[in-house]
Amino acid sequence: MEKLIIVGTGCAGLTAAIYAARANLSPLVLEGHEPGGQLSTTTLVENFPGFPEGINGPELVMNMKSQAERFGSRFSYATVEAFEPAGDHLRVKLDGEWKETRTLIVASGASAKWLGLPGEKALVGHGLTSCATCDGAFYRNVPVAVVGGGDSAAEEATFLTRFASKVYLIHRRASLRASKIMADRALSNPKIEPVWNSAPVEYLADETGEMRGLKIRDTVNGAERELEVKCVFVAIGHTPNTVPFQGQLDMDESGYLLQTSGTHTNVPGVFAAGDVADRIYRQAVTAAGQGCAAALDAEKYLAQFEH
Ligand code: NAP
Repeated sequence: MEKLIIVGTGCAGLTAAIYAARANLSPLVLEGHEPGGQLSTTTLVENFPGFPEGINGPELVMNMKSQAERFGSRFSYATVEAFEPAGDHLRVKLDGEWKETRTLIVASGASAKWLGLPGEKALVGHGLTSCATCDGAFYRNVPVAVVGGGDSAAEEATFLTRFASKVYLIHRRASLRASKIMADRALSNPKIEPVWNSAPVEYLADETGEMRGLKIRDTVNGAERELEVKCVFVAIGHTPNTVPFQGQLDMDESGYLLQTSGTHTNVPGVFAAGDVADRIYRQAVTAAGQGCAAALDAEKYLAQFEH
């Protein structure tokens, strides 16, 4: 039986792994579908303490992983399919096989939301994406669009000006939700054209199935028009990755895990950390703090099994 399984390798999971490994718990850390979490798809992180010049997200996450490995964390690409409590321990189903563990830290994060327009699935990778860092460089000297009004949208739009000839920033209201510094940076960039009070209604594909434009509707007067863009970057927020825990772990109406005290969940031995349980702060540094707390909570919980 494992002492501790950590689900997720974003900031929360990796910080939990560093602390748990240093406490000799030799945690098994599951990488899942999106290794490195959201940091691995971001650009420069300027607000993580200790890096006065900023640090690239993927580099930050790789550093955390090596730090966790150095102290004896074990990594596996497995994904959790199901979970159940089993008396004084827990069971998790990993790629078809049940594994027993005393404790579990759920740090499975949150994944990008999509608009839900017709043809969306087929267009992903053909001019539709949720990751500017991953795909921005493919769209050099052509117009692109970013949908959303938060920090992600502002950050992605600014990043895309390195490549695109023009970036439409499409928002359903007339002011950005993004923090002032990021909003100002985006709106003062001459390559970014804000498109206020507008919601996408249809992706326009060419005969080869590649994006050629986006139909948008004015949310005030209902007028529709088409923007000619080669790529649409959707940046409208995230959904917590909690499906395998439904029915077992308490969640709010959006699927975020609920903590009872500290990082404890309603099931003894299961702890939640990072974006999977945080709809308010959602920062790399708060996720790291929660990961640390979850490892300490797990360590304390495990003490009862030592004889
Ligand atoms: P967010 O703050 O939830 O913003 C989502 C945006 O998408 C909102 O402007 C929202 O419009 C819009 N939206 C939602 N559903 C939509 C739909 N169906 N159609 C059109 N528009 C839609 O999400 P986020 O920008 O991903 O940021 C999440 C958290 O991460 C925040 O706490 C943010 O501060 C943080 N973050 C920080 C950094 C950084 O500091 N470097 C970078 C990225 C993100 P409304 O405004 O009308 O609701």
